[in-house]
Amino acid sequence: MEDCLFCRIASREIGADILDEKGGAFAFRDINPQAPVHVLVLPREHISTLKELGPDRCDVLMDIFSLINDIAVSEGIEQSGYRVVVNSGEEAGQDVDHLHFHLLGGRFMKWPPG
Ligand code: AMP
Ligand code: ZN
Repeated sequence: MEDCLFCRIASREIGADILDEKGGAFAFRDINPQAPVHVLVLPREHISTLKELGPDRCDVLMDIFSLINDIAVSEGIEQSGYRVVVNSGEEAGQDVDHLHFHLLGGRFMKWPPG
């Protein structure tokens, strides 16, 4: 998707603080961090929302969660705990129409979220 911000970051057309990649997934730091660690982990291929996920996307989901675990270790939050959030759709507050998993850590979290 040529007009998608995260596709353009994935293709290195737009710069970002890319941390790592694994199979069909890659990760970069959020530009407006909401916690000491705030990383976005997402599929390289354009998938808009959670509702587009089906059994045919198992491989990329495994890559995403494996990368989340790797980054939790490299960021030093695997013992203290961390939160993984997906905003899917308008009412959930999804601003960028390319599925992404927020990995947040390094501080105590509240529940319920706003
Ligand atoms: P969401 O509201 O769930 O769609 O999350 C979108 C996230 O993308 C927000 O946390 C933004 O701060 C982040 N974001 C937007 N533009 C960029 C960018 N160019 N580089 C890194 N993160 C970005
Ligand atoms: Zn995209």
